[in-house]
Amino acid sequence: MADENVYVLDSSAIFLRKVHGNAVTVPEVVEEIVDEDSRFYLSIKMEEGGLRVESSREEFVLEINEVAKRTGDIHRLSKTDLNVLAKALEIKRRGKKAVIVTDDYSIQNMASVLDIDVEAVVQKGISRVVKWVKVCRGCGRRIDSDICPVCGGEAMLKKVKPKKKV
Ligand SMILES: [Zn+2]
Repeated sequence: MADENVYVLDSSAIFLRKVHGNAVTVPEVVEEIVDEDSRFYLSIKMEEGGLRVESSREEFVLEINEVAKRTGDIHRLSKTDLNVLAKALEIKRRGKKAVIVTDDYSIQNMASVLDIDVEAVVQKGISRVVKWVKVCRGCGRRIDSDICPVCGGEAMLKKVKPKKKV
């Protein structure tokens, strides 16, 4: 199945070489990329066609500004951050799934208010996204004990992802 998500990057995703999938960023992020290695990485990703640079539209920037005032994040968000959020909101309004790739707490907070998904750049949030559960080796039921009460099979640990919000 194709990955339909559109990944909206802030500069940390580029500094840490985390560009993947169908990715987009805003010119303000590109301006923050000044070191030669990162610029080279950026140009390769753009040539490969995996990364586009698109300006955010003013109507969405204004809307993000209003939300940020309500949440109080307005004081912690840079102009670049606001543009990244505006781009993600625009993608969401176009009916696609936007995922902001960032470690910035205020961007993450805004994203949750706007119901936009976030992917951490440094995987410190991994315990939030992956959970371990016990399942029965015999019948595959999810169980709490080490021995399955239904078939007597042994428990094993299985990784699960939480249900996605749509
Ligand atoms: Zn069982």
